Amino acid sequence: MDAIAAAQVLSEIGYLLRQDPKESFRAKAFSRAAWSLAVERPDLDSLQQANRLTSIEGVGPGIAKILSGLVETGRSSYLDRLRTEMGQPARDDESTIDLASYQGDLHSHTNWSDGRATMLEMARGAKALGYRYLGITDHSPRIKVVNGLDAERLLAQSREREQVEQEVDGLALLQGIEVDILEDGGLDLPDAVLELLDIVIASPHVKLRQEPAAMTERMLRAVSNPNVDVIGHPTGRRPGSREGASYDVDLVFREAAKHGVALEIDCDPARMDLSPEHARLALELGCNFSLDADAHAPAEFAYVHMAAWMARRAGIPMDRILNFKPLEGLTMIAK
Ligand SMILES: [Zn+2]
Ligand SMILES: [Zn+2]
Repeated sequence: MDAIAAAQVLSEIGYLLRQDPKESFRAKAFSRAAWSLAVERPDLDSLQQANRLTSIEGVGPGIAKILSGLVETGRSSYLDRLRTEMGQPARDDESTIDLASYQGDLHSHTNWSDGRATMLEMARGAKALGYRYLGITDHSPRIKVVNGLDAERLLAQSREREQVEQEVDGLALLQGIEVDILEDGGLDLPDAVLELLDIVIASPHVKLRQEPAAMTERMLRAVSNPNVDVIGHPTGRRPGSREGASYDVDLVFREAAKHGVALEIDCDPARMDLSPEHARLALELGCNFSLDADAHAPAEFAYVHMAAWMARRAGIPMDRILNFKPLEGLTMIAK
């Protein structure tokens, strides 16, 4: 059994458990174990034979039992049962997501804002995973607590980007921003700044409880901005702890498709946003997707490898996901 495949099973279990507040402790334990499989990629078959699955970090006896069944049979009866209980049975139209073809992550943070690693460390982490490109998308100025970047600091960051790119051979660094979607749908940096960047991810972070009509207007305005390439974690939800913004998803996703704005599937286990259900709707409405870790440290790049099951369950073919395109295929770069 491949460690990445197992990581996705444990991640989905964690996700389903998160829907029940009473299970939040176990949910996190499953997500942590999934993460450790995706980062360490242990040889599960030999650990199973030696009865040493618990030697994997984050895998206690309970999770080891489920993992053991999975390694033995290639499927998890526990996951099957949870899916049935939660009304989310397996579907026969799931897609195939081959992460060996994953070209790069478009959404990451460095210590220029709230990341915990330098740009160089992030670039080396991405390179070690075989990525061809990495979007450096720190926060915009309004989020003061995370030291968001204004135009001046973005310029300074672009100089560091050039240096790092020279140091890490074969990895393209995309200079970008995760810009806040303001309450009225305007963006937290002027268009004149945004149009200079390789990639603009516009995300809702605050005032997510706006009433739905106003929230719909806000999101519609954001997706119509010609500088926006991706909507980051489109609802702002945190499964098990915070409901996402509620708006007319049908209308907003249609508009995103019309403007060629991709919707993100943010793989951070605390976010999992878009949900597989919303992603499926967006697929039907013609949207493209971005499958990102939203990493704040190099080890978090592995979130993609544990949560890609969301794209699979949504039935999204790989050609609708930006991260499987080569650098030259990313139209936003030329935009
Ligand atoms: Zn964000
Ligand atoms: Zn982010």
